[in-house]
Amino acid sequence: MNVAKLRKSLLSWFELNKRDLPFRKSKDPYKIWLSEIMLQQTTMAVVVPYFERFVRKFPTIAAVAKSKDDNLLNAWKGLGYYARIRNLKLACREVCEKYGGKLPKDFNKIRALKGVGDYTTAAIASICFNLPHAVIDGNVKRVLARLFHFRENTDTTRARGFFKEKAETLLDRKSPGDFNQALMELGATVCTKSPHCLICPLNQACASFGKDPENLPIKTKMRFRPVDYSSLILHNEDKILLKKPSSENLIKDMWELPSCYAGSVTHHIDSIQKRLPVALNKKKLQRMGSVKHSITDKRIKAHVFGYELRGRLSGRQLTKWTKGDLTFIAWEELQKIPLNTLARKALQKFSPWSKN
Ligand code: SF4
Repeated sequence: MNVAKLRKSLLSWFELNKRDLPFRKSKDPYKIWLSEIMLQQTTMAVVVPYFERFVRKFPTIAAVAKSKDDNLLNAWKGLGYYARIRNLKLACREVCEKYGGKLPKDFNKIRALKGVGDYTTAAIASICFNLPHAVIDGNVKRVLARLFHFRENTDTTRARGFFKEKAETLLDRKSPGDFNQALMELGATVCTKSPHCLICPLNQACASFGKDPENLPIKTKMRFRPVDYSSLILHNEDKILLKKPSSENLIKDMWELPSCYAGSVTHHIDSIQKRLPVALNKKKLQRMGSVKHSITDKRIKAHVFGYELRGRLSGRQLTKWTKGDLTFIAWEELQKIPLNTLARKALQKFSPWSKN
């Protein structure tokens, strides 16, 4: 393989074909950092509007460091994996305290920040500071496995060593940022699950060209755990009962509907009842269908129930329902609090919510 020729072909292709993405318009390390954090576990199409809104609201590292948790979680809601935003805030604080609000041009110092792994550090270091560190993400692994026809399981120590060695050997040390982005872009747009080999700038160098690239890379299949869940929409006039953020919530720091794990319909109702300080009249419970949601390896099916407390109840009457971390909040406030995705999906099943 002629490595110099491969680098040249890839960089020329990237120059002509790179997507017009908002975070490619600047080399601001904060924006690159934020985009890389958002792109972990989330697709580009979902990330772009979130990124633009987030940057308008929090334009600098200092703005994130100073912001209230609720405001950050609210801007992040819907993206999932909320540990990312909690870690980002902690890391932004550290950058303000130690480095005057600017990311340092030093791989090890960036790598030491909370929530910043090898991949994100290499992306920031190469794209923003032109430091020669190769990025290895899912797209890069796919391209490398095919380019070198690597037919082993990618989840082994040996495979990790293989990808590291190949990525570092191929890296263009004069333009590491562009080269890294080009390799990731090729994986995202050309060397995809069903690769477009005929238009690929690397097809002359690729050991899988004309063979079986769609069967590579070889991965261990992830096992998903089905989980049955039930959620209750208990409401009175303009208010709804919610569970305040606590470490026991499905996602820490997010508001949610009174919910619980359950095995069968009878269990659903009984389990929800255990969460409430007042007995429900089961005849008044309305089944509203179910929603699906995934969190890491859990495939959740949530059965949604509606329950109306009729007539305008006084504050005292409502407090009977608000033991522990349960509280009523106004429907209109729902837009302002960080509500978890499962609750938002469940509320779509509820017609008064749809009218709002
Ligand atoms: Fe991927 Fe095909 Fe290009 Fe090889 S030739 S890198 S398999 S798109």
